[in-house]
Amino acid sequence: MNFGGIIKQSLVDYPGEIAAVLFTRGCNMRCPFCHNPQLLIKTKNDGAALTGLEEVLRFLKERQGFLDAVVISGGEPTLNEELPEAIKRIKSLGYLVKLDTNGTNAVMVERLLREGLLDYVAMDIKAPVEFKSYLRACGRLSSHDFFQIRNSIHLLNNLSDIKVEFRSTLIPLLHTPGDVEEMARYIKGADRYTLQQFNPRVTLDPSYGEIVPFSKGEMEDMAELCRAYVHEVRVVNI
Ligand code: SF4
Repeated sequence: MNFGGIIKQSLVDYPGEIAAVLFTRGCNMRCPFCHNPQLLIKTKNDGAALTGLEEVLRFLKERQGFLDAVVISGGEPTLNEELPEAIKRIKSLGYLVKLDTNGTNAVMVERLLREGLLDYVAMDIKAPVEFKSYLRACGRLSSHDFFQIRNSIHLLNNLSDIKVEFRSTLIPLLHTPGDVEEMARYIKGADRYTLQQFNPRVTLDPSYGEIVPFSKGEMEDMAELCRAYVHEVRVVNI
């Protein structure tokens, strides 16, 4: 298994732990606001260096005792059939593992959970969970993927033995405060919901670079709406 990038030390990607972040290549969505567009195509065609699993494992072995956790992000990591084996090897070095996912492969998420390979899952909620709104926010969506997204939410919202977080990047063009409340209602009872302020600096669709993000005050107001449904609501501003 190859990775399209690595952050060697992060204090923000695994709450409470010092983590390395591994980025897989390839994604089945095309969110216009995506800030990792270089990772969307699985084939290496942009000259970017790929890091192989063995190299990553050597690095993680050297950092044992300094790093606590590994975050696997993307792209969409669950599209990679070699993911379970890669995580098994990472966990054998004693690391906590967090998965970032768009939720379109509930079968893989379920398998990883069944095999005890995840300590933390963060799943994106792109829009109110209704096909047309979701498609608009994620740019590409099959009915199969939409079904899987709903399955993933259901699966993750009924777990108690690992940490689960839902998160949404909020964009004035795509989301109203009412939409945000609807998203929170859909994940009612969840432990944690993170509202991420949109960053227009790098976007897949260049026209999104012109959009002015919600202000900190607007983000806080929307977080307040969500607190009626979710235990902990966090705002992450750029
Ligand atoms: S933001 Fe969207 S397109 Fe970009 S990696 Fe995540 S799911 Fe894929």
